[in-house]
Parts: sequence; C-alpha cells; structure tokens
Amino acid sequence: MQIFGILFNISQPSFEAGYPKRVFYDARDIPNLPCARCGKKMLPKLEAENFLSKIRPSLRRCLKKLQSLKDIKEYQLLEELAEKYPRENIDQILSHQSSFASKPINKQIPEFIINRIKAVTFNASAVVRKLQKYRKYMSETNLELLDIMEIYAKKYPNLTLLEIITHPEVYGYHKRMVKMEKDTLEVKSQRVFKRMERIAEKMGKGKNEELKVLNLETLRVIQNRTNYDDTDECLENLYEDFISKINNRKDADKFKKLVKELPFAKTNPHRIIVKAAENHSPFGIIYHFFDRTNTFEHIKPKSQKGVNLQHNGIYMCADCNTKRGTTPYKKLFLKSADFGTFVQKQASMIMRYIMRGKLIRYDFYPQEVKKTLYEESGHIFKLDIKKYLKSQIEKSQAEIQKRKESCKKADEELRQIKKELTNLIQRQNALNSNQAKNNQKLIYEENKLNNYRQSLHEEENYG
Ligand SMILES: [Zn+2]
Repeated sequence: MQIFGILFNISQPSFEAGYPKRVFYDARDIPNLPCARCGKKMLPKLEAENFLSKIRPSLRRCLKKLQSLKDIKEYQLLEELAEKYPRENIDQILSHQSSFASKPINKQIPEFIINRIKAVTFNASAVVRKLQKYRKYMSETNLELLDIMEIYAKKYPNLTLLEIITHPEVYGYHKRMVKMEKDTLEVKSQRVFKRMERIAEKMGKGKNEELKVLNLETLRVIQNRTNYDDTDECLENLYEDFISKINNRKDADKFKKLVKELPFAKTNPHRIIVKAAENHSPFGIIYHFFDRTNTFEHIKPKSQKGVNLQHNGIYMCADCNTKRGTTPYKKLFLKSADFGTFVQKQASMIMRYIMRGKLIRYDFYPQEVKKTLYEESGHIFKLDIKKYLKSQIEKSQAEIQKRKESCKKADEELRQIKKELTNLIQRQNALNSNQAKNNQKLIYEENKLNNYRQSLHEEENYG
C-alpha cells in the first residue's frame, strides 16, 4: 500500500461529458473509481497527498510550538533553516538535501527530533475544518471520529491534534472506553470458552489445561485484532491442531462451530484515538480519515513474491487493502458474490477511461489483469473484457486504415517526384553533353585563333 509519497499540487479536476478534462497516468488518480472490495467511491491518491502536504505547518511555526527543543544543541541550525525557508515545512526542507550545510540536514538532526517536528499539525480546529470536505469519502466510524474531534476542537481551540489526544482527560476517557470494550469481548469469549472446555473435559485433564492456554492466546487476538478478512481463519488456525486431536467426530464438529461463535473487535474511534496517542502520532488519526483513498492492491501478495507491476494490481480503498491482508483471491471470490461484481465494475470504468484516451499507458492492462485474476482466483473468476477488446480492435483497424491511406498518398507523391526527377536527369544529361561539345568547339576555335595570330606576327616581322 503506497498512498503518501511525493507531494503534488493539482487543482480539482474539471469535468467534460462525464470525464475529467485532464488525462491520467495512474489509475489511483481517477476520481470516484469504485473500490474492488467494498464498491464505494474512492478518493484519488493525489488529492489525499495534497491534503496531507497542507496540514503540516512551516518549520517556523512548528518551532514556536516546540519551545522545549530550545535546549538541544541543534536548535540553532533549526532556527537558521526556519529563517532560510520561512514558508516550508520540515518535509520540504529535508527534500532540499542541504545545499546549505556540508552534511544532509537529516544526518545533522537526530531522528527523534525530526519526528517530533513532523508530529506538529495545525490547530485541531483548522484540521477538522479542512477535513469536512472529505466527509463523502468517510466510513461510519470515521464520521463518528470526526464528530468527536470536532467537539474537542471546539473545547481546545488552540491545541494541535497531538496535544488533544495526549491530553490526560481525553486520553484517559478513550482508554477507559477501549478497556470496557475489551472487557465485553472477554465476557462474550468466556461463554464460548466454557462450552469448549466441556468438550475438552471428556478428553482428560491434560487436554483441558492445553485448551486453557490456547484460549488465553485466543482472547488476546480477539481483544487486539480488528476485523480483517481472515479474522475467522486466523481463529480457526489457532484451534486447528487441537481439533485434529478430538477423536469423537461429533465433538470435533461441535468444537468447530464454537470457534465460529467467537466474537471479534471492530475498529472504533476510541481504539484509533488511543493508538494514535500512544504512538505520539496525530497522523495515525489523519490517515484514518483517508481510509477510502485509492491504493494499489497486489493481487498476488508481495509476501508471496507478487510483483509491484500494473498487471498484478487492482485498486482498493486503503481500508479494504489493509483488511484483505494476504487472504487468497479464491477465498474472497467464494466468500462474497459482490467481490466479482465490484472488480468487474472497477475494471469496466478503467477500460472506459482507456478507450476515451483518458488513461495513458494502460492499453494492455485489461488483458493482463484478467489473466492474473484468473490464475489467483484458482480459475474461477473471468473478467469480461469483450467490449473493450472489440472497441480496441475497431480503433486499431481505423488507425491501420488511416495509416494505409496516408501510405498510399505518400506513394503517389513519391511516384510523381520520381517521374519529375527522371525528366530532370534527362535534361541534365542533355545539357551536359551539349556543354561538352561547346567546350571542345571553344578550345578548337581558340587554338585556331592563336595559330592565325602567330602566323600574322611572323608575316609582319620577317615579311
Ligand atoms: Zn473498499
């Protein structure tokens, strides 16, 4: 997943017959492309990056917020940099790679200081105001989170996001809420664990002890892992060994069913706030607001040697991309009929963009991605690209026809020129031969003249 790379400045795309006026070189920038997993419209990658580049204040403003840094020995250098680049934030300044000092700036200033500077955002009220524009791209959880942040921004108008989430009152409250949720999950899990233990009792005392250890591990997963596509699978894997040792078939089946009854945690604003506060990273929250940003999703996961190339990718919102993890595509297709529909919907939109000449350098993407999807889905998913191929064939044929005609025209012109050239060469030859004759005659006459003059001269002198 790569969302936050180099920062660009682009203006909002203006539309023309349903398509933006500009052309795209990356499918992640197509406005409102539907996510391949949840089908929701995604926020173009550049727009997210553009937002993120704007919420980091200049180094000069950061230093005002970080008075405690005054005691470090690198402070003077920071001040000099802030003076030299008064409008730039630390990222922009670091990107200059210091023509200013002999050593790159990031080598001269300790990383933890740079991270502290990077964690400074504008005041929460300004950030929250800017975020309102992206509401249509936010999940229920994020809308709830934004509402909570809005309340805090009103309560603490001069604080940054980081100052708010690490405020003892705020952090304490959300920490308690997370604790309560974890307690609820524990109560729910314990009910299932008890029924599991009843089955294990029949297998002897040792088995029950083994199960208790296993359940403790499971509880930790349940309390800390939010809903991924493979959460159920993850829990099944935990018990796989144990189940294989249950001799009674009926009991084994009963046990398997119980595993499916285990609860699991969902992402919620409290978890997001606590985690961001503990990591001292306000961006932990901000990135969350952008969880519907268009990201490249490796069909064959990177961890299984899936390459970082166009043909191995479809596009998912950041949230779905994270949740997919490395779940095999075969499972995704089998688990939800919608998945195939959304993948097709997205590919169709991409194909329309290519056909319109709005997406460049993707001409072979539909065929290639079809092949990858077919292979990775265990030969169950076939992307429909007929319409695209037909249109591309028509376009190619028209192009060939156009080229043929212009070849024919050029041929005709060449023939004409050749004819004219032949005529000219003939005329040139005739003139050449005439010229030669003239020259010969000229020399002959000149000799004759000299001869006569010589004779006359002799006549006059000796006559
Ligand atoms: Zn999605």
